[in-house]
Amino acid sequence: MALHPDSRRDSRTAAGTGGVYIHIPFCKTKCMYCDFYSVANRESAMDRLVDCLLTEIRDAGISPPSWQIDTLFIGGGTPSLLAPHHLEQLLTALDQAFGLSELVEFTLEANPGEAPEDKLRAFRELGVNRLSMGFQSFDPGLLKFLGRLHDPAACFKTYAAARRAGFDNINADLMFNIPGQSLEGWRGDLTTLADLEPEHISAYSLTVEKGTELFRMVAASEVTLPDEDQDYRMYALTRELLSRRGYVPYEVSNYAREGRACQHNLHYWRIEPYLSFGPSAHSFDGFQRRWNVRNLDAYMDRIATGRSPVAGDEELSPNQLYHEKLAFGLRLKEGLSVTESLGYASPGAFARQHGQLLNKWEGWLVLQGDRLQMTETGVFLTDTITADFFTEGPPEGSSDTGPHWDQRKISLEQNSRSQANVQGQERSVAQLPTHATTD
Ligand code: SF4
Repeated sequence: MALHPDSRRDSRTAAGTGGVYIHIPFCKTKCMYCDFYSVANRESAMDRLVDCLLTEIRDAGISPPSWQIDTLFIGGGTPSLLAPHHLEQLLTALDQAFGLSELVEFTLEANPGEAPEDKLRAFRELGVNRLSMGFQSFDPGLLKFLGRLHDPAACFKTYAAARRAGFDNINADLMFNIPGQSLEGWRGDLTTLADLEPEHISAYSLTVEKGTELFRMVAASEVTLPDEDQDYRMYALTRELLSRRGYVPYEVSNYAREGRACQHNLHYWRIEPYLSFGPSAHSFDGFQRRWNVRNLDAYMDRIATGRSPVAGDEELSPNQLYHEKLAFGLRLKEGLSVTESLGYASPGAFARQHGQLLNKWEGWLVLQGDRLQMTETGVFLTDTITADFFTEGPPEGSSDTGPHWDQRKISLEQNSRSQANVQGQERSVAQLPTHATTD
């Protein structure tokens, strides 16, 4: 089947919407900074993985959700390694199980040099209406350091092929704070990308994640990351340059032309529901998270022997939900509603409980009507300010005295990748409990 998602429809007007994520964990090689679940040199298992995904979608025992599915994100890994017939099978199964008639955004991640034009054309014809590409850098030396297989020429070539294939909504990921990267080099990368005029740009600071080759190298003092001041300067330059070039910084690390924000990642940041399939994928129904086993062979074995791929679940307490909504909401330019989202009876009730903090951060944080938002200067201190609210807790009188938000789960630095998705190339938040896809 081919889908015809209507990207002109504003998904925010549809009450109760959410997304679907499918994780394709194959990569040709493992990049040295990447902690997303992916495996190298296993593409030969693609047919079997897709069969397992079809079984998981059909037999997971998940009822069609009460909310409307309006976004679909195929992430990884390298989903552009999928054959078009695989994608068609997955779409048919998803449509039969849950219904995709209300889809407005259908994203697929593609690596430069790994998505030939005929394949991109086939994906476009199947309904993919948004392509996300992991450029990371236009500096050949930095790409090599990061372990990327592509060179800058492959970025331009795949981008041009995507345009010819009919994609009018493209995201590209870039990365800063890379060892050896200069501020001027970063300015050059941003300018080169802005000149290409993609509709969306994700610009992330390289973070050192445990278990990666980068982590080992930093621990062994083989490389040093730029210091905090340089990281700050690069981030400030990103906001200034991309804003000047017409990109709205609608999330701490994400920039979009008017009307081109990633609707799928907005579901994660607004703590809205999503279904996910594949190894390591996480689902959220508004109250409970559950996650699949983070191992390709274990995932496929479980499905093949009729067992559930779900490795665990967690019911979020009202207190945890409150903190997640606050932490992710403050990353968004739109902020969050203190009544609808945080459960206060009125903006005044929020102001009464948090008056001291609102005064302390005046000029950095603003309560306008019932929306709590960072100011343009406050966005540089999102993590510090949010942590202050964590110590004050949820609405007074809340009966929930459960464990507070696990600080280890949040990475509120200005460029935190999670999720998603993030994460390297445009990521999907769905892979980690609290994580938003690098887009
Ligand atoms: S960064 Fe992307 S391409 Fe590299 S290993 Fe991770 S998922 Fe694969």
